[in-house]
Amino acid sequence: MNSFRVPLCFAAAVLLAGPVAVRGADEITLADVAAGRAEIVDLAYPLDEKANFWPGDDYEPFTLKTIATLEKNGVLSKAMSFPEHIGTHVDAPNHFEPDRPDVSEIPAEQLFAPGVVIDVTMRAEVDADYGLSVADVKAWEAKHGRIPDHAVVLLRTGWGRFWSNPVRFRNADARGTLHFPSYVEESARFLVEQRKAKGLGVDNLSIDRGISKDFAVHHVVNGARRYGIENVAHLEKLPPRGFHVWVAPIKVRKGTGGPARVFAILPKKE
Ligand SMILES: [Zn+2]
Repeated sequence: MNSFRVPLCFAAAVLLAGPVAVRGADEITLADVAAGRAEIVDLAYPLDEKANFWPGDDYEPFTLKTIATLEKNGVLSKAMSFPEHIGTHVDAPNHFEPDRPDVSEIPAEQLFAPGVVIDVTMRAEVDADYGLSVADVKAWEAKHGRIPDHAVVLLRTGWGRFWSNPVRFRNADARGTLHFPSYVEESARFLVEQRKAKGLGVDNLSIDRGISKDFAVHHVVNGARRYGIENVAHLEKLPPRGFHVWVAPIKVRKGTGGPARVFAILPKKE
């Protein structure tokens, strides 16, 4: 007799509460995001004095200075200084090409996009100079489906695990040449031109490989008025597809880029 009770109660509960819908990435609403019914992955590293930055001649580490204290001023306030290209940051279209939008001019709709992760960790493991090929992109598509048009493409090289070890992260040889994987010109061109990617991101210092001298990927991306996102954090937390990306760089007039909050929004794991 009791055997009926549990299923009936369960059925009644389902009728009252409705079935628990698992929404796909395309069904998630902003109300879901606001109400905590979606998973949000923060893809930015916190900025601090250890944040990695491009090792350019006049580039300096992040600094944070206290300019008012609760004890003295009744308010705690700080001032900060940093190169634009530090930590998790955006490369604006004017970074490598003239007459292109600065970071404050990137249209807002360019900063929201479906996201995909292409993972070359295994190849990068044996070749620090590995460059993503068009064949890699096509192999990804054969497995996961065509990359949606106007997406943000995130390249996972596995370099994120070296974030807190600046020497390993830069991976310079005795002559000072850097060695880390990234895009190469042909894959960047394919993604920007054939898949209309809004932006290309990577989990290390540059959307060009460490050994690049001509920064061809930057020229392709910025030439097409698209942006790069460098030092993207936590790509290991994302699936290959099925999420959206929100990129929010600091809005500096005439800036060539700057630190950014980057979020991935995906269905909540049940
Ligand atoms: Zn940059």
